[in-house]
Amino acid sequence: MEKVNSLRELALKKQLWRNSGFTWGFVPTMGALHEGHASLIRAAAAAHEIVVVSIFVNPTQFNDPEDFKKYPLTPDADCRVAEAAGATVLFTPTAEDIYGGQIKAQAVDYGQLTTAFEAAERPGHFDGVVAVVDLLFQAVEPSVAYFGEKDLQQVAVVRRLAEERHPAVRIACQPLVRDHDGLALSSRNVRLMPEARQRALAISRTLAEVKGEIFAGRDVQVAVAEGRAKLEGVAGLDLAYFEAIETDTFQTQFAPPHAESHLICAATVDGVRLIDNIRLTPRPEPAIVP
Ligand code: AMP
Repeated sequence: MEKVNSLRELALKKQLWRNSGFTWGFVPTMGALHEGHASLIRAAAAAHEIVVVSIFVNPTQFNDPEDFKKYPLTPDADCRVAEAAGATVLFTPTAEDIYGGQIKAQAVDYGQLTTAFEAAERPGHFDGVVAVVDLLFQAVEPSVAYFGEKDLQQVAVVRRLAEERHPAVRIACQPLVRDHDGLALSSRNVRLMPEARQRALAISRTLAEVKGEIFAGRDVQVAVAEGRAKLEGVAGLDLAYFEAIETDTFQTQFAPPHAESHLICAATVDGVRLIDNIRLTPRPEPAIVP
C-alpha cells in the first residue's frame, strides 16, 4: 500500500493508472477504521486494480465542535486495517490542500434529504459532507465510490450530488456491519462505557423487533409508534427519531411493497450520538461494476 498525502501526488498517480488501463474504486473515511470500513475496502478491492482509501476528518461536517475535537485518531492501526482489507493507496490530504484555503461549506438544498432527520438534528452537517465529497470526487475521479448503508441518509445525499455533479462516478452502497452484540459498528463506539453500551443495544434490538412485527403483518405506523415508545422508555437513552422511510427520498409517506424502505433511528447514550437502521425491503440486485 502506498501513502499519498497531496493532491499533486495523487494527480501523478492517476495519470499512471490511466496509462495502464486500470480502474480505481474509492472509499472515503474519517479514519478510526473498523470492520465496517474494511467491508467497503474489500468490496472495492474485488472490483478494481486500484483502491484509494482516504482518511480525512472533515471539519465542515461537524456541527458540534466538541465532537470534532474528540473524534478518535488511530493512524497506525488504520494503515494495518486498510492494507489488510486490500487498499492500494492511502490518501491523507490536509484540509488546506482539499479545500484550497477556505475551509467552509456552502448550504445545500436537496429537499427532505437536507432538512429532515440527520439534517434537522445536525444543522450544516450535510453541507459539509457534500462539500468534502465533491472535492474528494474531483481529486480522486473514481469509477465507483463505496459508502456504507450505516449512514443511510448520507448515501442518499451523495447519490444526489453524484447525479448532479459527478455523473461518471457510480455510488455503491454496502451493507451495514454490526458488532457481535448487534450494535452498529461506529468509530464513536469506543467512547461508550460498558453500561452505556448495554443501554445502546436497545436500538438494534428494537429495530429488529419492529421489522419482525411489520413482516408479521402489523401496520407499519403502529409498529413504528410502539418501537418509538419502547426506546423513549429506556433510561439513559435520549431518542432523536425512530421512523420508517422510503430509502431514496427519506419521505415517511410511501408504499412499502413497492418502494425500497428502511427503519431509521438516532439516539444519544451517555453523550455519544448513535445512528442505526434496518432494511424493510430486499436489497436491490447489485449493478455490474465496470
Ligand atoms: P466514516 O469514517 O464514519 O466517515 O465512515 C466512512 C464510511 O464507512 C461511510 O461510508 C460509512 O457509512 C461507512 N461505515 C461506517 N460504519 C459502518 C458500518 N458499521 N457498516 C458499514 N459501513 C460503515
